Amino acid sequence: MKQLWAPWRLEYILSEKTKTCIFCHHPLSGQNKKSLLLHAGPSSLVLLNRYPYTSCHLLIAPRKHTSNLSELDADEMLDLFSILRRSIEVLKNAVKPAGFNIGMNLGRVAGAGITRHLHLHIVPRWQGDTNFMPIAAEAVVLPEHLEKTYNRLAPVFKTSFKP
Ligand SMILES: [Zn+2]
Repeated sequence: MKQLWAPWRLEYILSEKTKTCIFCHHPLSGQNKKSLLLHAGPSSLVLLNRYPYTSCHLLIAPRKHTSNLSELDADEMLDLFSILRRSIEVLKNAVKPAGFNIGMNLGRVAGAGITRHLHLHIVPRWQGDTNFMPIAAEAVVLPEHLEKTYNRLAPVFKTSFKP
């Protein structure tokens, strides 16, 4: 993924890391635009990544605050992967990517930005996305861009994750 040009990543790298965990303290259900929360389930969450590699880059996390995969019980693991699978389906229908990178970075040395709370990345890919990304203006308009992405995904997540 290193070859992707995402200038707003610099903002993340240079920003002071917040003390509070972005995956903790979310409501028990529903969505929240301010925190880019697309889905809150009983044991897992879906967030839009504030510092994306591509448009619609999602983060899937268990509610349990842990950096250790072994600390998730069977139900939490199943829920995490069910939500991962459903999120991929939502993206397929909503934004029609040509492929996905799915991954987990465990530990700072492996590239994890947030090491304390494990999470999965869903990075949708489109043909040529590494070519049209480097537009200088993109970095400036990103907050609006993110909001637009959130507004596009929020209703489809709401519908797809209806109990
Ligand atoms: Zn946490």
